Amino acid sequence: MNRYFDHNATSPLHPAARAAWLDAQDHHWHNPSSLYREAGAARHLLESCREAVADRLGCAAADILFLSGATEANNAVLAHAAAANLPHIALSAAEHPCVSDPAQHLFPGRLSLIPLSPHGLADLAALEEILATQRPALVALMAANNETGTLQPWREALDLCRRHRALFLCDAAQWIGKMPSHGLGACDFVTGSAHKFGGPKGIGFLKVPDSGRPFRWLRGGPQEARRRAGTENLPAIAALLAAWEAVESSATDLLPARLQARQAFEDRLRTLLPEATLLAAEAPRLWNTVLLALPPPLNVKWLARLSACGFAVSTGSACSQGAGASDVLLAMGLSGPILGQVLRLSAGWDTTPADWLALADALASVHAGMAQRPPSSPALSL
Ligand code: PLP
Repeated sequence: MNRYFDHNATSPLHPAARAAWLDAQDHHWHNPSSLYREAGAARHLLESCREAVADRLGCAAADILFLSGATEANNAVLAHAAAANLPHIALSAAEHPCVSDPAQHLFPGRLSLIPLSPHGLADLAALEEILATQRPALVALMAANNETGTLQPWREALDLCRRHRALFLCDAAQWIGKMPSHGLGACDFVTGSAHKFGGPKGIGFLKVPDSGRPFRWLRGGPQEARRRAGTENLPAIAALLAAWEAVESSATDLLPARLQARQAFEDRLRTLLPEATLLAAEAPRLWNTVLLALPPPLNVKWLARLSACGFAVSTGSACSQGAGASDVLLAMGLSGPILGQVLRLSAGWDTTPADWLALADALASVHAGMAQRPPSSPALSL
């Protein structure tokens, strides 16, 4: 029984990634920038991984650089935009803090926020209005949201940006490995992170356009065509690719069955625990994600009880008091105590329908257990 439901936070290492990591570490541990034969073989592997990543996205290999993950990649894009003195940028209210935080820091007063619908989807009419009136030179809209699982209309947003001659950044950290990635390469900037889809932590990629101002992120050695200095983490890069190939090869074929498994969970939960509300339920969502608003007590208590039953889930970034509550949920119009009642469930490539149903049963029995418990007596004070 697989009780791990926190894949949107991180995923275990996929066996294919582990094998690729060990193989590259054993046979290609040399520095790809060195000049002897073994280093040449490491360079060859590095470049073939770059080609394969580019093929998966549908872009040129020269547009791909490897770095430590999506946080670094998104920071790099925003620093690049700031260095180019872009007068104005826009981003959706769904963005991960590794987009919104550097954007607020680097573009104070020069930033428009694309609002969300109550179901968590970026409002394309509002984006069009922003493009027409504020003329942002760069727009950021993620592919899939880490908290709600909503599939954002990134293709439509890209079209709008093309029409208004704005560059488009798509954070695909949660999309890749769960949905087909081909076509993402049409975006100007794409960011991704291996540990979200079965690769190791600390490795990711960035797709940058080869036109315009030269991209210089970390300065130092000539690695990654001078765009990101530092010796390449080749075993991790090989593992990133192996995990991606392994989880995506079956993603399209398995999609109907995976959606069915989640639906069966939601149906069972509606029967066993009608007090629970599904959030963002009306929007197209990743097959692996369910965001629930549960009855009292607070989400952290639910999480602790589920954890005691062996289930790993997440409160997302919602907090109990409202202060510091999830910006995404606030942007969806949620407010008040519900912000402290939210639980995120995120499955993985090996989650079975039986695992989902066991989680529904666990939620119901945790609820029943809490209802039977007498209210805790006030602490004695002497
Ligand atoms: N973007 C999204 C949508 C994410 O969900 C995450 C991780 O939670 C990140 C970026 C950051 O990824 P990394 O851990 O590679 O820095």
